[in-house]
Amino acid sequence: MTRHFIVIGNPIAHSKSPQIHQVFATQVDIDICYQRQHCPDNAAGFSAVIEAFFHGGGVGANVTVPFKQRAYDNCLARGGLSEHAKIAGAVNTLLLNEAVLKNGGSIKDAIYGDNTDGQGLVNHIVRLGWPLSGARVALIGAGGAARGIILPLIEAGIAQLTIANRTVSKATKLVTDLSAASPTIAQHHITTCATTDLTGQFDLIINATSIGLSSNTLPLADDLNCHYAYDMMYGRALPFLQRFADRGAQTSEGYGMLIGQAALSFERWTGHAINVEQATTTLSKQHE
Ligand code: NDP
Repeated sequence: MTRHFIVIGNPIAHSKSPQIHQVFATQVDIDICYQRQHCPDNAAGFSAVIEAFFHGGGVGANVTVPFKQRAYDNCLARGGLSEHAKIAGAVNTLLLNEAVLKNGGSIKDAIYGDNTDGQGLVNHIVRLGWPLSGARVALIGAGGAARGIILPLIEAGIAQLTIANRTVSKATKLVTDLSAASPTIAQHHITTCATTDLTGQFDLIINATSIGLSSNTLPLADDLNCHYAYDMMYGRALPFLQRFADRGAQTSEGYGMLIGQAALSFERWTGHAINVEQATTTLSKQHE
């Protein structure tokens, strides 16, 4: 029996998700059909595509730019949300809640939103062998991606978190909003500052800004240093990582995070655990 999946976005042609999920399916020996689904960028179009997919027997959907927030809004209004999706304010994984269907609920009531992005990042950092427990962490950026990784980082046992952003008020608002939404985050002392004011030594610095999409570079203080530097961006030269590599830090781009979040979605949908190391090796061989 073939199980059907989609990734919904706009644009979507560039998405590597079909290739990644096919490697997972081969690894656990199940038959899947995973397709890219282009969707008009409006609320009615998005809801229609999702409902038609699940009515047609679809098992699971990934959601990418620009629909993560819209998927969250839909599941908040009707359906359900995981704790991580609630805190992230965004959904990257949709599935059907079988219990709702068994109790006679409609497909619309059964659509459940989860967010695996943050845990995907944490799992990648663990695979890299970088210590998170007790770590002093600086997170640069206060947009959607930063929002989704704060709870998983705290759950992984980091000791200190500083959030730096070009617009400091957005970082401060992010901390206020998340502290109100999550007792775990509220108990953690998080400091905020302007990116240019971020100084000193950290164990780990994560770039969660979208600056890598442009030719600009982050304006970082000269005395900012770390043991490990992570850029959520991937697939291009990243001056952020080069700066820290030149000073002796270990570095990683975010492709492993992409595979990590995909593996968690796949496990959620199929119940099959993925050997992510093995899948990553297979995917890199396909790129050669
Ligand atoms: P958002 O648009 O929500 O946030 C963008 C962030 O980048 C803001 O903090 C913004 O600062 C900052 N920023 C943008 N331009 C500049 C600049 N020129 N100088 C300094 N700061 C800047 O984007 P997302 O949070 O959704 O995505 C961020 C990145 O994470 C993207 O590159 C995306 O590709 C990547 N990502 C990777 C994933 C993976 O699996 N590897 C998963 C999800 C995201 P300000 O608030 O001041 O505007």
